[in-house]
This record gives sequence, C-alpha cells and structure tokens, in this order.
Amino acid sequence: MAANTTSNNLKRKLSNRDSDSDNENEHTSFSRKNKTDAPRLCPYLDTINRQFLDFDFEKLCSVSLSRINVYACLVCGKYFQGRGTNTHAYTHSVAESHHVFLNLHTLKFYCLPDNYEIVDSSLDDIKYVLNPTFGREQIAQLDTSDKQSRAIDGSMYSPGIVGLNNIKANDYCNVILQALSHVTPLRNYFLRESNYSHVKRPPGDSQYLLVQRFGELMRKLWNSRNFKAHVSPHEMLQAVVLWSKKSFQFTEQGDPIDFLSWFLNALHIALNGSKKRDSSIIYKTFLGHMRIYTRKIPPLELEESQRSELLNTVEYGETVTESPFLYLTCDLPPPPLFKDQFTENIIPQVNLYTLLNKFNAFTEKEYKTYKENFLKRFEITELPPYLILYIKRFTKNTFFVEKNPTIVNFPVKNVDFGDILTPEVKARHPYTVYDLVANIVHEGEPGKGTYKVHILHRATGQWYEMQDLHVTQRLSQMITLSEAYIQIYELRKSDSTENGTKAN
Ligand SMILES: [Zn+2]
Repeated sequence: MAANTTSNNLKRKLSNRDSDSDNENEHTSFSRKNKTDAPRLCPYLDTINRQFLDFDFEKLCSVSLSRINVYACLVCGKYFQGRGTNTHAYTHSVAESHHVFLNLHTLKFYCLPDNYEIVDSSLDDIKYVLNPTFGREQIAQLDTSDKQSRAIDGSMYSPGIVGLNNIKANDYCNVILQALSHVTPLRNYFLRESNYSHVKRPPGDSQYLLVQRFGELMRKLWNSRNFKAHVSPHEMLQAVVLWSKKSFQFTEQGDPIDFLSWFLNALHIALNGSKKRDSSIIYKTFLGHMRIYTRKIPPLELEESQRSELLNTVEYGETVTESPFLYLTCDLPPPPLFKDQFTENIIPQVNLYTLLNKFNAFTEKEYKTYKENFLKRFEITELPPYLILYIKRFTKNTFFVEKNPTIVNFPVKNVDFGDILTPEVKARHPYTVYDLVANIVHEGEPGKGTYKVHILHRATGQWYEMQDLHVTQRLSQMITLSEAYIQIYELRKSDSTENGTKAN
C-alpha cells in the first residue's frame, strides 16, 4: 500500500519540477507556498531510528557533498541534499522507502516523496539533539544536579562528563576542549548563543565560525537529552583546521599547550576582544598580569674588572616590562643525569610550590639567547579568576624531543598563590586560594604517547579521567601521581579553606 502511494506521488511530483528548492525566506515563500502540502501527521514516524542519528558531523550531502539544503534521513541517519523531485533526498526516499527527513538548517521535518511538512511534538527530542538550548535556570543547576541521563543504548552518563571521539590524532585537542568545558564562566557563556550572537563579524568569517562551533560543542557536551554518551568534535575541529591554516590538524599529533594558546587567542579575537580585561570572556576568565625584570650578564670571558665596570652602565641595568599572561610556564628541575644502583628506579619528584617560586619576584632565572645571557625575575601583579599552569615537560633539540618525567606534587584543593605574591600585590588580592578543576597529563614516550584529562564533576565531587571516548572514575589521590602537563585552577571566592588547613 505504501508503495502504491509512493508511485502515485512520484507521478505527481515529476510534474512539479522546481520543488527541490527549499528556500525558507519569508519574501520568497509566497510564490512557493503551494509546493509543499499543508503540515499533517505522518504514518511513518515509527520507522525513525534514533540510534542511527548523529548530528555531530559536517552537514553535507552524502552523494553530492553539497552543504546547501541538506536533510537527514531519520530512518538510516544519512544526509542528502534537496527535497523536491530528482533531488538526492527524494531519490533516496523512493529507492529505500525511507520517508522521514529533517532539514538540518531549518529544523523542519518532512515526509518524502509526498513532500509535506510533519508537525509532531514527539519529534522535539530529535530537534533538541541537533540544536540543544539552555535556559538560565538550567545552567544554574548544572553544577548541583547529580541526575544522570540515559542514552538510547541504555548507557547512563552525567552531562558534561562525556567522551569525545578521536578522529585520528586529535587527543591533544580533545583534552583542551574537555578542560575548557569545565571552566564555569566560559561554559556558561557559550551555552547561550545570545551571549555572542550580537558580535559583528564579516560574513563567512572563519574566526566567527570557530566561536559558533565551540558554542555548539559546549551545548552538546552538556546536553542531558543526548542520544549517545559521547560527542564528536569533528565540526569544531574543521573550524580549527580552517582558521589555523592547517597549523592544527586532527590527522597529526600536536602539543596541547600550542593548541590552547592559539585557541584562547583565536576566540578572544573572534569575540572582538581588545587589550582590556572586560573585552572578552576569555580575558575576563584567564587574563593575569606580571612584571618582568631583566638584566644582561656581562660576558664571562671578560676580566672581572671589566665585568663590574659593565654592570654599572645603563645598558646592563635592570629593565622592567609589564606583561599580560593567559597561562604561567613552570619549569621542572632537570632530572638527575647520572643514576646509581639506588636511584635508578626512582622517579624524581618536585613540589608545586617549588615551581611557583619562579614567580615570587625574587628568584632569578638565567636565559640564554644566541648572543647574550640574561637574568630575569618575575613578579605576578594580578591573579586571574582561573589560573592555567603549563608544566614544561618537553624540550625540543635539533634531532629529537626529550621528556622530563618528574612528578609534580600538588594538592587538588587549597593551593594558595598568595604565598608567592609580594606584600603590595597581596594587599590587592582578597582571595588567593585556588582549587584544581582540570589536569591534563601526558603518558608514554615523548612525541608518541597519549594525552588524558582529569576533570572534577562538581555536582558529586568525583574526579573522572577522560581519554577520548573513555571515561573512568578516579580517586583524587591518583591524580596527584600523574605526569601533569597543563592544569586549570579556580579561584575560591570565600574565606573558608576546606579541611581548615592549607594542604601541602
Ligand atoms: Zn535513509
């Protein structure tokens, strides 16, 4: 019977040549109004296979590869162009007897080849997966509700704690995207499109595409009504490849710190950010300031008298520069060069506070350029609400990359950055205690190996380890034993320190 209807409609539609156009613009719709039958109920709704639906991939026709006017077949999940006679979607509906389609741009449902719009609230869940939206109240509950969600396959997940596909070698991007999705102000900003939709950018601007894709990814990661317990960053990463002019690709392993640094700056620029802190959500969240004191060291081969004479000249005097930062680079002490039978199997360890002493305004560090040697000291003058630490583990030589395996001992709570501030700076900072919210680690050989991220689920206080699609619970004690690479700390804006004492 269905086949009969189909062939009748086929005849009818064949005489209706230009109905493949699907322009939804109001000013053109008048002349096209009669092309689509009035909305009605569809008898094929129970043929929809929600487990086949995946809207994370590029919205292009599987046959023509066109991005224009693309529909998803809700029976098999494939994408096809058009809707009118002889279009790929139309042909597919006739050939496979798949009848329910969703226009991926207008979010309207159609029955093909009959070509009428389907209006049915039982399809709202599909629309929501394609385009999740968040109200203020919903956002306010994200970090307090421990309610789990059920995917179509029956698996349970917590919104925000879902895996990201590794398309080929994009684990270095995934860990950054996961970590940033747990930075509350950044997440909340991107969950609501209205926060950034007013930003004026030139049409077709690839920078703004990055903003849109990141927003979509945030909403998918935090969607409590997703059909599956993971999300593909495919579209997001395509925007990255496009704007970075292939500096970052998902087919080639990269360094998460390079990606993070590029990505934060790219978002800041795309949101029309300036040098001012309030000019973008990126600077509001991560921007700190430091003062760098630099002095030249006279060449060692000179006589002592010549060296001390040079030190009295203006050229060798100390210069001061103010420098904004989005992350702090912490240097690991060099691992022991010679190992004896007793220390062979001991992995060197260092306390986080020892690394942070680099920024206490007193510690002098030597820097060498091709020509000259410098001594620098760093004074933090402003701490940001979210502090990113980059623990420099890799050194690139001419021929290979070396990895420093030193373990950094850090508390996951109550890290007091006030200890490294000068008294004047400290007086301007009523709060200086931070808690860890994300910890990116590298495991394995330099240049190979894998990146993983530890994420705190605020609603339950539970830590999770995420490696692409794999999500596993972790004890916080285990996190501190990992080879930390990039960490994000959150400023606690209250006087209470948990456990009453400062952890060490
Ligand atoms: Zn199909």
